[in-house]
Amino acid sequence: LRDTGTPEDETELAIEGALRPSSLAEFVGQKKVRGQLQLLLDAARIQQRPADHILLSGPPGLGKTTLAMIVAHESGRPLRLSSGPAIQHAGDLAALLSSLTPGEVLFIDEVHRMARSAEEMLYLAMEDFRIDIMVGKGAGATSIPLDLAPFTLVGATTRSGLLPNPLRDRFGFTGHLEYYDPEELERVVERSAAMLGVALPPQARAEIARRSRGTPRIANRLLRRVRDYAIVHRTDADEASVAAALELYDVDSIGLDRLDRAVLDALVRRFRGGPVGLSTLAVAVGEEPETIESVVEPYLVRIGFMGRTPRGRVATPEAYAHLGAPHPDGVIR
Ligand code: ADP
Repeated sequence: LRDTGTPEDETELAIEGALRPSSLAEFVGQKKVRGQLQLLLDAARIQQRPADHILLSGPPGLGKTTLAMIVAHESGRPLRLSSGPAIQHAGDLAALLSSLTPGEVLFIDEVHRMARSAEEMLYLAMEDFRIDIMVGKGAGATSIPLDLAPFTLVGATTRSGLLPNPLRDRFGFTGHLEYYDPEELERVVERSAAMLGVALPPQARAEIARRSRGTPRIANRLLRRVRDYAIVHRTDADEASVAAALELYDVDSIGLDRLDRAVLDALVRRFRGGPVGLSTLAVAVGEEPETIESVVEPYLVRIGFMGRTPRGRVATPEAYAHLGAPHPDGVIR
């Protein structure tokens, strides 16, 4: 159930796609960003032009891809999907941009992971709908300007701080997606359960919502595991099934998963509450620093279990209490 942003297989991917809301009205929560996007899309429609470029930032699974699809759908434009890691050379981007049809919405996921050379090409493309293609090498090299069809770029990033300023500045609007509160996740689960034909009592729904790390993708996945459990054990998708399924998948009472707990445990027990540097912490739990920083840490900070100081990450008394570890000030909370 670990959410690194990539659905684990084709079936899960298909179900995830089927559960995506296709309009802003159906999109649960994120009231602020929804209102901002609505205005942007309405203005573009009235002026009959492609919408300004949009940057969406926030941890995985909060709805960035879904919003990109909604932008295309609501403005009646086609959508092209790509991602930063797939754009390793300026040439990859040139091929992509020059094949766009007028008004097309281009979604680039993990836009902070694009090659530097492509980034520079993108500045010009975003601003002037033009790129310069380099032909030849060395002294004989020349650049040929190429006009592009106007397009709307929707960039997604888990960390907007990683984007170089010139790139960030070229987006007309940046939407910051926040973790969802349990009531909002209940609505996500209710909607998904109805679509999947799962009869889920309100208490079971609330329990899934409470233990989904504020993340719709995780809520939808937990729901599917609960459904699996009910099917296999020929029982109802009730609170007991929720508890059993979550236990099986190592989701604890407040929704932390194994990696969350491993990080907390290392911080509290091994590094005595910190401060400890990100890479040291990552090595201790055998994960990539980027995963710790963009997936694990934001949630632990948000629930007040971890703090970030100039000298490194620190555990809060609440983290000690959750692990049942004695706090150094002598109080067992
Ligand atoms: P991201 O691109 O931020 O990683 P996605 O847009 O892929 O996240 O969303 C992951 C899953 O969560 C999708 O299946 C989508 O249907 C669901 N989802 C995300 N946000 C919402 C929302 N606000 N309302 C309903 N479902 C949502």
